[in-house]
This record gives sequence, C-alpha cells and structure tokens, in this order.
Amino acid sequence: MEVKIAENAGFCFGVKRAMNMAWDELENKGDSQVYSLGPLIHNKQAVDKYKEKGLIEIDSLDEIPNDRKLIIRSHGVAKKIYTDSQSKNMDIVDTTCPYVKKIHDIVKEFSDKGYKIIIVGNAIHPEIIGINGWCNNEAYVINSEEEINSISFNDNDQYCVVSQTTANLDSFDRIVEKLQSKIENLIVKNTICFATKERQLSAIDLANEVDCMVVIGGKHSSNTQKLVNICKDIVPTFSIETKEELELEKLKGFKIAGVTAGASTPDWIIDEVIEYLKEI
Ligand code: SF4
Repeated sequence: MEVKIAENAGFCFGVKRAMNMAWDELENKGDSQVYSLGPLIHNKQAVDKYKEKGLIEIDSLDEIPNDRKLIIRSHGVAKKIYTDSQSKNMDIVDTTCPYVKKIHDIVKEFSDKGYKIIIVGNAIHPEIIGINGWCNNEAYVINSEEEINSISFNDNDQYCVVSQTTANLDSFDRIVEKLQSKIENLIVKNTICFATKERQLSAIDLANEVDCMVVIGGKHSSNTQKLVNICKDIVPTFSIETKEELELEKLKGFKIAGVTAGASTPDWIIDEVIEYLKEI
C-alpha cells in the first residue's frame, strides 16, 4: 500500500512543550513523587509511558499530601487550582499551553471589567472547565447556534466571546454572527489555535489525494475526532489509537492511504502505523 502523510500531523507545539517539560521532571525527580492533575494528554499509550516513568495521576488535590510536585497539563486549569496548590505548598510545574493561558488572561481581564463571558466549546472538556474557572465559573458555554436561544441577553450588559482552541472556525463564525444579531455590546476574541486549523487543512488536502484516510489519536481527543469527521466527508476513514486497531480486511481494497494524527499523538505511534500500512 502506498502511504502519504499529512503535512501537519501529530504533536502540536503546546503538547510537545508540555510533554518535554513533564519528561524532564520525571528524569530529575530522584526519590520525590511527581503528580499530574488528570491525564497529561488524551492519549492512553503516551500517558502509560509517563506512568511507567513514575508519574502519578490524580483527579483532585485532596488526594495528595502537601509539599509535592504537581504538573499542570497543557489544557490548563481554573484559577482555584493555583490558589489551592499554593495553600498546600505544592511545587507547580505549569505546562499550560501559552495559547490557552492567553484565553485565561482574556477571560479574567474582561470578567474583572464586568463583562459577561461566553465560551464556544464543549462544556465538559477540561480546557473549557479551566477557562471558566478564570471568570468565577459564570461563563455561558455554548457549542451550537441553537444553544444561543436558551440564553436571555440583557441590553445593559457587555459580553465577551472566546473559543475553545480546538473549535471549528466555520462553526465559531456562525455562532458569532448569531450572537452579534442579539447582542449590542459584544467583544469577539477568536482564540482558535492555528495548530488545529493547520492540521484540519492538511487533512483535507491529503484526503482529496488518497483512497482512504487513517486518523490516529485518542478517542477522547477533541481535535482528533474533528479530523475524523472532516476526513469522513471526503473518503472512507479509519479512526484508530494504535496500529493494532487497523482492520486488514477492510484496508486491503485501497491502494493509497493517507495518514494524519491528532495533536496529542506521539511520533512513535504514527511511525508504527505507517510501517504497518506499508506492509499491506
Ligand atoms: S492545539 Fe494549540 S492550544 Fe492546544 S496545546 Fe496545541 S498549540 Fe496549544
């Protein structure tokens, strides 16, 4: 099988930075314990590798004693996590992606000025939970134009809208257009990360050149699942986490496969899949 790889695929700048920072901490930890609040990234295989190296995953600060080292992952966290960590005298290794940090700053600035915050994104995604925590968890979180109808806007209020970094640009634009028709004082901050867009555009280009697409990435990775949906509209698409999930019988009928991967997929997993496909 001929295999083509998307121009932009796999670890983005923010994830690469966070994973390198976390690995450095584990390399130099000595006898001390290093914790991460939630899985480092939405990729089980990579997370397992870090756990083998000694990383301990927790869901809440209450689970660990004071004075420990805590890695904050690239998705970022709410302001309260920083204050709680300080009161427990934790040593924080903050790997929050700078693009996410920028959203925290925007949300805090406008919320402090009295603006109501609107976040376009998935309400249960850790990035959104973190962002909402910089405006006292008072943001309206919406993920579609329809959801706007459930909000009653006040003409006397000012609003600021931001987006999840992995939001779809077209959908964000449509939501903003509808918000603008309902809100007089609306500040729009398009905080979609370019890395996401780049991966989506490369996936579209490649999907148009091949017989099928293989998208590698975590089932819970929002940017991976967006790549899957984009590719599905163009060619038959296989969504996998590792090469073991490839279905040989289904792939045999295709001559050229395109490969792309979500922003939290490590290179070694991508390489394994490519090698496997080439052997078909
Ligand atoms: S997708 Fe963008 S915002 Fe998210 S971690 Fe990567 S570089 Fe940062």
